[in-house]
Amino acid sequence: MATTAALRSIDLILTSECNLRCGYCYQNDKKSGEMAWGTMRSALDRLLASESQSIRVGFWGGEPLLEFPLLQKAVAYVEDKLEPGRSAAYSVSTNGLLLTDEILAFLVHHRFEIQLSFDGVPAMQDLRRRNSFHALDGLLDRMSAHESGRGTHDLRIAITITPETIEFLPDSIAYFLEKGVPHIAVAPVNYAPQWQVDDIAKLDRMMKVVFDLCVKHFRRTGQMPLALFGGKGSKQKERSKESIPMCGAPFGRGVAVDVNGDTHGCITFAGSYQRFRSAWLKEQIDSMSIGPIDGGDFETGLAAYPDASRKTGMFHAKENKYSSYGKCGECEYVDRCGICPMSIGNIPGNRDPDRMPDFACAFMKTTHRYRDRFPVAPREGMMTSEMQKLLAMVGGGDDSAAGLAQPGLLDFLVKAGAASR
Ligand code: SF4
Ligand code: SF4
Repeated sequence: MATTAALRSIDLILTSECNLRCGYCYQNDKKSGEMAWGTMRSALDRLLASESQSIRVGFWGGEPLLEFPLLQKAVAYVEDKLEPGRSAAYSVSTNGLLLTDEILAFLVHHRFEIQLSFDGVPAMQDLRRRNSFHALDGLLDRMSAHESGRGTHDLRIAITITPETIEFLPDSIAYFLEKGVPHIAVAPVNYAPQWQVDDIAKLDRMMKVVFDLCVKHFRRTGQMPLALFGGKGSKQKERSKESIPMCGAPFGRGVAVDVNGDTHGCITFAGSYQRFRSAWLKEQIDSMSIGPIDGGDFETGLAAYPDASRKTGMFHAKENKYSSYGKCGECEYVDRCGICPMSIGNIPGNRDPDRMPDFACAFMKTTHRYRDRFPVAPREGMMTSEMQKLLAMVGGGDDSAAGLAQPGLLDFLVKAGAASR
């Protein structure tokens, strides 16, 4: 059962306003207004009252840095109230355009994980916000210079890919690898009605280019920042294919608090900044509402939430779902396909909780196929410095023909390193 005592994290939507209006953002009804301090304090008190030793607070918008003083106040409050022996981690999801040196210094000081929404080279980024590339390119340089590079340690680039931007993905990945970004995540947009089933061939061609440059980068550096190819590949343990959840949202171990205090299982359920794309989706989201964070019925709403989410049919039993590319239960990637279930409700006219979106499915199938061909399964993309030295001694530490001729050795070294951690 979901309870306040078991809460581990809370995501706070500081404002539903944003300084951008990206065409593909699911937040299609942004507006001004910020979370009241009383609401925020109630949310933080709920989390602080949990029994979790390690808690996490995420700051979201709209653009959360529009309300930076509120964010600072929240951090000061948590630091003041946190009991000895407990720890708090923080994250912020930002488009980066308001990230001044002063704000960066604060985030680095409090060891924030910074999730930067940045799609890459100008041709790709312009579709998000015209002429914003140079500001973000400069930001990456400032972050990497900050405190001897500590500023980029917890930086995660979040790329949103759409059917229109597939062709620019290789250049964008090459750009971020060149910049030395430590973590890169790519996620498919959750609304892509223009996708045609046969377009998967184009996606495959682009992913092959991404794959080749990632292999080359990995053999040269021992690093694999791109999450698509990091972590475990095809050799991961077999899991039961019974009742596979779509994501962590339906369990209630973390909650998201909207600007007005309404509480949900995920930030994507918040109503302050979006008009849901169908009445059916709105019905499902309303049926899962936990209620006001500062209300007397919060505990009851939280306890009822996992069952309510199960009843929608969207968040569980992935093995029963399907797309134009086939049945999930027969798909070899079913236990690691990470499609956001909210995209089910964004398929025009759809009322079937098992119907998966074709673009997201094509993206998952294609990327996992290449992931399984990756020369190693580099957990967290890391190789120890000792292994890099050894590899360099036998000619594998650079991009030379000798280095590329040693993939077996590289695999062995990385596996040995993974086993020793
Ligand atoms: S890749 Fe497609 S078919 Fe496979 S589990 Fe994911 S949505 Fe289902
Ligand atoms: S996959 Fe979607 S619904 Fe699940 S936690 Fe992530 S954003 Fe929320």
